[in-house]
Parts: sequence; C-alpha cells; structure tokens
Amino acid sequence: MNAPLRRAEIDLDAYRANLDLVREWMDPVELMAIMKADAYGHGLEPIALAAVDAGIRWIGVLTVPAALRLRSIGVSEDVHLFTWQHDPALDFRDAIDSAVDLGVSNVPELQRVIDAVDQRPARVHLGFDSGLHRDGATPETWPALVSLALDAQRAGRIEVVAAYTHLAESSDQDDTDAVALFDAAVERADDLGLDIPTEHVAASLAGLERKEFRKDMVRMGANLFGIPGADGVSAADLGLEPVMTLTASVAKTKRVPVDTGVSYDYTYRTTTETTLALVPVGYADGVPRLAQGRIEVAIAGKRYPIAGRVAMDQFLVDVGDDDVRTGDAVVLFGTGEHDEMTVLEWGEALGTIGEEIVCRIGARVPREYQGHSVEGHVAEYLRGER
Ligand SMILES: *Cc1c(COP(=O)(O)O)cnc(C)c1O
Repeated sequence: MNAPLRRAEIDLDAYRANLDLVREWMDPVELMAIMKADAYGHGLEPIALAAVDAGIRWIGVLTVPAALRLRSIGVSEDVHLFTWQHDPALDFRDAIDSAVDLGVSNVPELQRVIDAVDQRPARVHLGFDSGLHRDGATPETWPALVSLALDAQRAGRIEVVAAYTHLAESSDQDDTDAVALFDAAVERADDLGLDIPTEHVAASLAGLERKEFRKDMVRMGANLFGIPGADGVSAADLGLEPVMTLTASVAKTKRVPVDTGVSYDYTYRTTTETTLALVPVGYADGVPRLAQGRIEVAIAGKRYPIAGRVAMDQFLVDVGDDDVRTGDAVVLFGTGEHDEMTVLEWGEALGTIGEEIVCRIGARVPREYQGHSVEGHVAEYLRGER
C-alpha cells in the first residue's frame, strides 16, 4: 500500500455543501467567505476555486499578497477580494490595479493607499473599532478617517465600498453595544457627507445567532469549514460538515512486555504485555504535546488514547492485543462518522477552539483534495494548469 504516512483529506464537497447551506440561511444577505491563514489550514487555492465554482462573489483573505495570489491563478475581478491586515511597508499599487478591496482604518494608511493610486480608484472599506481594539478607527479617530476618505473619493482616487467592524463575542450585551457604536459611526459618516453603500459586521457566530447584525453582508470562515463556534453546538447539530480529516498510517507495531516505559520521559508504562503502534504524526504536524491524556485516535473504528509523550514526528498508542498492523489507517479527527473525534472535540479537549487546531496542521502534512467538486477550476489548479 502506498498511502502517505500522514495526510489531511480536504472534502471540497463538504465545503461546498456548507457554503450552500450558509447562503440559504443568510439569504438575501451577501456572504463573504473568509479564507485567511491558508483557508484555515485547508489550502487557499483549492478552497477559493471551489468557492468561485460555487458562485461566491466575496472572499476575505486578510493580506494583499494572498489576494494577488488568487488573481494570479485566475480569480477574476467579478469576485471581490477583501484584505484588511497590511504590512506597513506594503506598496498598494498592485492591489489597486488588481481591484483588491482594502480594509483601511487609520489616516496614515489611507493616505498611503491614496498616494499609490494610478490608473483606477482604490476600493476601500473603512474599518471601525467597536470594542475589539485591534485595528479599526476609534470613535475619536473615525471622523478624520471619514473626512480624508470623502476628499479622496471626490477627487476620484478611491471608492468607498463599505464600512465594517469585528465583534468581540464576549457577551450578547457587549456585542449589542458594539453594533450601536458602529451604527453611530456610520451615521456620523453620513452627517459628514459620506455615503456608506455596504456594512459588514458579523462573523460565523453572530451571523448565525444575531440576525439583526447581518447588515448587508456577513463574513464567515469557521462555519464553512464545519467548525461552529457556539458552546455545545456541534457541526452535525447545524447540518454542517467538517471539511478536514486528519489521518495517518500505522508506521510500525511492536510487541513489548509489561512495565515498558513509552516515549520520552516514560510518562506512560504498559500494564501488561501489549502491542504499541507508531503513529507518524507529531507536534511538528500540529498534534500538540498537550494532547497526551486528552486525545484519542480511531483505528478500525475503535478509540485509543495517546500513550506517552507526543514527539516532534510521532506518537504511540497502546493497542493491547488488537490486530493492528503496519499500514492500518489511523483517523485523528474527522467528521465523527467512523467513531473518530471531530476537530471541535479536539478544541474542547485541548482548551482551545477547532480553528486553532486546523490552522496549525503543519506544512509537511500533504493536503489531499476530494469530492466531486474536484472538477472545473479546482481540477485545473491541481493539475498545475493555473
Ligand atoms: C477571522 C475573521 C472573520 C471570520 O471569523 P469566523 O469566526 O471564522 O467566521 C471575519 N472577520 C474578520 C475581520 C476576521 O478576522
């Protein structure tokens, strides 16, 4: 058998199904599919092309280089690419010429955008800080940002496409207060003479739970990867499908006597004569050392805990007298259909969220794309034709 030792299977049909379902829920509100961090570790290009094949009109990718990468593989200007975290030394010229949408939230940055304009106006979304205190103009700095945007728009150098904010999701009341601040900022812009054509505020959680925050567009990442954010709500509860399945092949098995110390520091000792199976996935691949004692993997539909320390490249499981052999498939997380844990459960077990788990699956884990959507643009990309 020739399966790679470790792999992340990416089910593009599942992504597509999630996209269709979420669009149905949000209708008639526009959906921006968020794909920052290499599409949450799933691989930017195939995910983006699958979304484009499904007719998506808005994609959020965080940075200009990622957006230009999508333009370079043929994502046309019919698809708006939103970016909002910019290197302070970035020259915005290529972004503007490629019609990449720029989230801008302070005067010096907006000035740099305006200065870079050449052939066509820059498409700008004005970012407002409604309480998260990351980027975004504060209520104090907002009027100056709006005034500069207004002047630049009148001079034909920029087009103000939208205003946006991002919520802290700390409590319903905090989010209500944040959106009230945002609404006041949009009103302030209007008073200053700037019309804001589009407003976007909500991400996965608020987009589902706070209908009144959907405004003109919601920006969703996690839901589309089948990782819902609400406490105690599984993907299956919502009809969403986890997109990534992390699997490996048993690399070796070894019969060992009772009281054998296993892996670094001997934090695990066998309690009987038993078989150890070597799973060739380690913390370099995104299985945290913390997973010992918290994570179980599935082999042939049965769960086994990690035995001993997770090492950089591997860990062991104690399979007792079960007939586990070299080459057998080990499912670390997936849809849950074959009795494996889901990434949401990994997040809970490890004191984090599923997003962190999928984003940290290492670069040496090959992503294998599956599903009937491996046609059209995605197929061309995977064949190296884009
Ligand atoms: C990550 C991010 C999103 C998407 O968040 P999800 O919870 O994954 O849907 C939306 N907007 C901004 C600004 C983000 O950084």
